[in-house]
Amino acid sequence: AVAHRYPVTVAPIEILKTVYGYEAFRGRQAEIVSHVIAGNNAFVLMPTGGGKSLCYQIPALCRPGLGLVVSPLIALMADQVAALRQAGVRAAALNSDLPSEERRALWHSIFDGTLDLLYVAPETLLRPGVIDRLRETKLSVIAIDEAHCLSQWGHDFRPHYRQLDALVEMFPDTPRMALTATADAPTRAEIISHLGIDERDAFIAGFDRPNIRYAIEEKDNPRRQLMRFLETHKGESGIVYCLSKRRTEETAAWLQEQGFHALPYHGGMDKALREVNQTRFQREEAVVMVATIAFGMGIDKPDVRFVAHIDLPGSIEAYYQETGRAGRDGLPAEALMLYGFEDVALRRRFITESDAPDQRKRMEQQKLDALLGLTETAECRRQILLSYFGDECAPCGNCDTCANPPERFDGTIAAQKALSCVYRTGERFGQAYIVSVLLGDEDERITRFGHDRISTYGIGKEHDQRTWRSILRQMIARGLFDVDLAGHGGLSISEGGRRFLKEKPVLMLRVPRPAGSRGRKAVRS
Ligand code: ADP
Ligand code: ZN
Repeated sequence: AVAHRYPVTVAPIEILKTVYGYEAFRGRQAEIVSHVIAGNNAFVLMPTGGGKSLCYQIPALCRPGLGLVVSPLIALMADQVAALRQAGVRAAALNSDLPSEERRALWHSIFDGTLDLLYVAPETLLRPGVIDRLRETKLSVIAIDEAHCLSQWGHDFRPHYRQLDALVEMFPDTPRMALTATADAPTRAEIISHLGIDERDAFIAGFDRPNIRYAIEEKDNPRRQLMRFLETHKGESGIVYCLSKRRTEETAAWLQEQGFHALPYHGGMDKALREVNQTRFQREEAVVMVATIAFGMGIDKPDVRFVAHIDLPGSIEAYYQETGRAGRDGLPAEALMLYGFEDVALRRRFITESDAPDQRKRMEQQKLDALLGLTETAECRRQILLSYFGDECAPCGNCDTCANPPERFDGTIAAQKALSCVYRTGERFGQAYIVSVLLGDEDERITRFGHDRISTYGIGKEHDQRTWRSILRQMIARGLFDVDLAGHGGLSISEGGRRFLKEKPVLMLRVPRPAGSRGRKAVRS
C-alpha cells in the first residue's frame, strides 16, 4: 500500500489523553493508529471490548477531513455519538429518520469542514446521492465497523454491507479500515478481499483470555463428569450450555435435585419466565444457568466463574464466545467441554439434512472438523484456539493438555506422507480423498485421476482410516494445511506446512481413541 503522508498537527497520544482521558494505548492500538494516520488501510480483528473504536476515531481526528464510520446499529451509533460529543468531538449520525432541517444542518457542517466524524448505517449511505455528495468533501478515513456483516456465510450477513465495496472505487485514496470481533480465516479473507485490503494490513490481537482455564473431555459418564466439575465451583455462578431445550430442562431439574441453585433458559420458554431467570442469574449469587445458546447475548456479569458445555458447541467461534462469558473480571475462571461421538454424528446429520445450499453445508462441515481438531489436539488448547483467530501465544500451562499431556505418538512421518500426498494430488482434494489415496483404496475416482500411479498411493497402510482422519484434523488444527472453505474443502499446503516440510521438526500427535470403543456405532448410524 502506498503511504500518503499528511502533516499531523496533534500527536495521537495527546488526543488519547486530552479527548479520552486515557494514559496509554492498549495492545496494538498505537501501531494501528499510526499505520492508518500514515495513509494505509487496516483490517482490525479484536474481541469485543478490545478497544476498536479508538483505532479509527483517533486517525479520523489526526488526519485532515471527515471520518466516515459505517455501523450497522442505529442505537449503537447514537451512544457513540453522544459519548464523543461529551468529549468535545464534533460527531454526528446521519440516519433516515433525521428531520429535514437537522439533515440540512448536518450536510452544511460536512461541507463546512466543521465535522470530525460522521456515523452512518449502510442502508443510508447507499441511498442515491449520499456517496456522491460525500465525494465533494475530503474524507480522512473510512471505517467499516462490524465488518463481518458483509460475509455471506456468516451469521450476521447484511446484504447492504456487501455493497460497501463501492467505497473502494469512489474513495481510492482514503485509508479504509474494516473492524470486527468475530472472524475465522475464511470470513477474514472474504472481508479483506471484498474491501481491497492487503493481508499485510491485518492486525489481529487481544484474543487471549489468560485467566480462563480450558479443559475438553470425551463424554464417558456426562453427569458424573459435570458433577465433578461443579463440585469444584460450589457457591459460584456459572453457565451450563446444552444443545436442546429438553436437555436444558432435564439437566436443570437434575441439578436442582443435587442441591444446586440451577435455572433453565431456552428459547421455548415463556418470555416472562426467561427474563426472571436471567435477572436472577445477574443479581443473585451462585446461580447455575442451564441454557441453550439462546442465553448469553447482552449478559453483563463480570464474575461468571465457569462455563460448561455438556454437548459439543456449534463451532470454535461459538465456543470461544460462549466460554468468553466467564471471568470478565479477570479472576480465574474455568471452561469445560464434554463431547461425544454421538454429538458429532448428530451434528453431521443436521448439516447433511438441512436445506442450506451445498456450499454452506461444506463450510459447516469444515467448521465442525476444525472443532474436532481442537478436541483431539495434543497441543496446548489455547494455542489452537488462538491460531484459529490468527492470534498466537506460548504453551499456556493453564489448559488440560498443558497440565496433563495426553498420550501421544510421533506423527512426523505420517504428517510428511499426508503433506506429500496432498502435494502430489494437486492440492485440491478434501480429507476423505487424501485418506483413500494414502490407504491405497480401490476407488473409481482415484483411478480416473491416475492417482493410483503416484508414489503416495497406498503409503499409509500402517494406520487405519480413523487414525488418518484424526491425523489430518490435527494437522489442520495446527495450521499445516489451508482448507478451501468456500469451495469443496480441498486441502492445500499452508505456509506452516511448507515450513514443516523444510525444517522437519518432530510432530507429536494425540493417539486417537481405539476403534470399537463407545460411540463408534453412533458415528455410523
Ligand atoms: P470494542 O469496540 O473493541 O468492543 P471499545 O472501543 O468500545 O471496544 O472499547 C472498550 C472499552 O475500553 C471502552 O470503554 C473504551 O473506552 C476502553 N478503552 C479503549 N482503549 C482504551 C485505552 N487505551 N485505555 C483505557 N481504556 C480504553
Ligand atoms: Zn495450554
